[in-house]
Amino acid sequence: MSVQKYKVLKDVFGHNQFRALQEEGVDTILENRDLLMILPTGGGKSLVYQLPTMIKEGISIVVSPLIALMQDQVSALKAQKISAEMISSAQSKEDVAKIILKAQNGELKFLYLSPERLNNGSTLNILRTLTINFFVIDEAHCISQWGHEFREDYRSLGNLKAYFPNTAVCAFTATSTNHVTDDIIRELRLENPTLLKGKIFRKNIFISAQRRLTNGHAQLQDFLNRHKKESGIIYVSSRKNAEEVSEFLNLKGYSSLPYHAGLPQHVREQNFKIFVNDKVNIMVATIAFGMGIDKSDIRFVVHMSLPKSQENYYQEIGRAGRDGEDSETLLLFNASDIVLQKRFLLDIVDPDYKAHLDAKIESIYKFATSELCFHQQLAEYFDDTLNPCENRCDNCLQSDTLKQDITKEAQMILSAIYKTNQSFGKNYIVDVLRGSKEQKLLANEADKLSVYNIGTHLSKKEWFVILERLLELKVLSIGEFSVLQLQEDAINILKGKTKVQIKSSRLEISVKEKVVKQVDAVEYDENLFQKLRTKRAEIASELEVPAYIVFSDKVLKNLAHEKPRDKISMLKVNGVGEKKFEQFGKEFLSVIKLEN
Ligand code: ADP
Repeated sequence: MSVQKYKVLKDVFGHNQFRALQEEGVDTILENRDLLMILPTGGGKSLVYQLPTMIKEGISIVVSPLIALMQDQVSALKAQKISAEMISSAQSKEDVAKIILKAQNGELKFLYLSPERLNNGSTLNILRTLTINFFVIDEAHCISQWGHEFREDYRSLGNLKAYFPNTAVCAFTATSTNHVTDDIIRELRLENPTLLKGKIFRKNIFISAQRRLTNGHAQLQDFLNRHKKESGIIYVSSRKNAEEVSEFLNLKGYSSLPYHAGLPQHVREQNFKIFVNDKVNIMVATIAFGMGIDKSDIRFVVHMSLPKSQENYYQEIGRAGRDGEDSETLLLFNASDIVLQKRFLLDIVDPDYKAHLDAKIESIYKFATSELCFHQQLAEYFDDTLNPCENRCDNCLQSDTLKQDITKEAQMILSAIYKTNQSFGKNYIVDVLRGSKEQKLLANEADKLSVYNIGTHLSKKEWFVILERLLELKVLSIGEFSVLQLQEDAINILKGKTKVQIKSSRLEISVKEKVVKQVDAVEYDENLFQKLRTKRAEIASELEVPAYIVFSDKVLKNLAHEKPRDKISMLKVNGVGEKKFEQFGKEFLSVIKLEN
C-alpha cells in the first residue's frame, strides 16, 4: 500500500510530495483508525481523506456544513474524473434517488451530505445498504459550543459511532483550541484517535493591523495599490457597508461585487461564481461569505473593522494564499468596533456563554492593538507555540524602530478631560486642545481653560490616534453618550510617574510600501504565465468549472518557470499528474511551445 499511495499522489492529484502531516493522516485512514486533524486552511486537508478513498474499497461519506463547500469539492473531484455526488435540500426527490442508486451500485467514491441529512432516519437506513470505508467530518469545530461556529445539527453526529461501530470517523478542522479539541473527540466519540495538529503559522500570509481613520477608504486604497489585478476579499461589518465599499471601489477603477445575506440567493450565487471565475477581482463581503470559499489564489484579505474573535479572524485571513503563494492581510479597527460587537451580545441569555463571547471580543481587540508578533499571538491563542516571525507581520518588521514618547500629549488630553469634568466626547476634547472657535465651546467658556489651544502642533487625526492609544491602554474609557472618562492609571500619567509610548508607525497616516515578498518565491516568465492564465480561463469556461480547478496559479507559475516541452517533462512539474495531463496537457504544452 505504501508504494501505491505515492503513485496515487502523483497520478491522481499531481503532487510530487506530501505536505507536513498529510502522510501520517493518510496512513491513519488506510489503517482504519479514527483521526482528528487540525491543519490550517490551505494545509491540504482534502487530500488526506481523498487519497485513501482512491485506494480503499467502498464509498466515503463526507459531512460538510455548507452547500457551497460541498459543491466546490464535488466539482473539483469530478474535474479529476473521480465519481462524487452530494445530496442537499436543493435537489429533487428523483435526483436524490438516482444518486442513491449509483451509490448502492458501487459507482460512487464520494458522497457529500449535510449534517441535517445525516441525522434523518431514512438517510441512516440508506447508508446501511452501502459499503462505507470511512466517514469524514469536515469543519469539525462546528460541534463545539465553545468554538466560533457552533451548529446544532453537528451535535448528533456523535450517533454515527453508535450506528456504525466498526467504521472509522475522521474529523478535520483548521481552528481548534485545546478546549475545542476535547469537545470534538468527546462529542464524535472518537476511539483512541490519532491526533495530528499542524503549526498554526501561515508563513505565506503577511499580517498587518492599523487603526482605521474615518471610514478607512483611504487606507484601503493605499493597500489595494499594491494588489492591482489580484483577487481578494474585503470583509465589512454590515450589508450597507458591503454595498458602499464595493461602489467606492468600482468608482475608483477596481472591479468588485458585494456579497451579503440581504441579497437574493440567486444574486449571491451569481456574484460568487463571477468572483471564483476571475471575472471580478474583489469580493466585498459580510461574514455571510464564509466557509465555502475554496478559491486558492486569493492574494489579500482586508477587514474594514474588528472581527468577532481570533478564531473568526484566523479563518477569514486563512482564505488568502491557499496555494502557498505570498499573500497580504490588513486589519483596520478602532475602539468603537468593540462597542458595536458587544451590542450583539445583549440578546444572549446564558450568562456563561455571554461572558465567553465577551472575552473573545476583548481578546481580538487586544490582538489588534498589541505590539507583539501577530503570528505568535495567534499561535498562543490556539495553544501552539511560535517564535516571533521576524518578517511576516507588521509588528515584527517595525519592532526595531524607535517608539515615540507621547506622555506630554497624553497629559494634555487627560487634563482637558479632567478640566471639563469628564462630560464630553472625543471631538470636543480635541477641539479644546486645538483652540476651536465652535459656538458650543465658547458658550461653555472653554477658551478660558489653561488647556485651550495648547495642542495645535498635532492635527485632529493625530489627536484621535493618541486618544485611541489611551483607550487601548485603558487609561480612558468611553461611558454613556460617548463621554470620555479617566481611569486609575490616568493620575500616574498626569503626575509624570508613568510614561506613555506609541509605535512611531501608528502616528503615520499613510501606509508605506512593505517588504512582503518571500525569498523562496519561484522566478517565472510573467508573459508566459499570463498566456497560460488565458488558456486556463478558456478551458474553465468551456467546462463550467472555476479556473483553479483546472490548475492553480502556483502550478501555472511552475509551468512558466520550467517550460516543459513534452509529456515527460510536463509530468515532472509539481502539480501535474497523469489525470490532469490527459485532460489539459496538450493545450498548455502548445501555449508554451508557441511562446518559445
Ligand atoms: P485545506 O482544506 O486544508 O484548506 P486544501 O485541501 O484545499 O486545503 O488544499 C489547499 C491547496 O493545496 C490546494 O490547491 C491543493 O491542491 C494543494 N495541495 C494539497 N496537497 C498538496 C501537496 N502535497 N503538494 C502540493 N500542493 C498540495
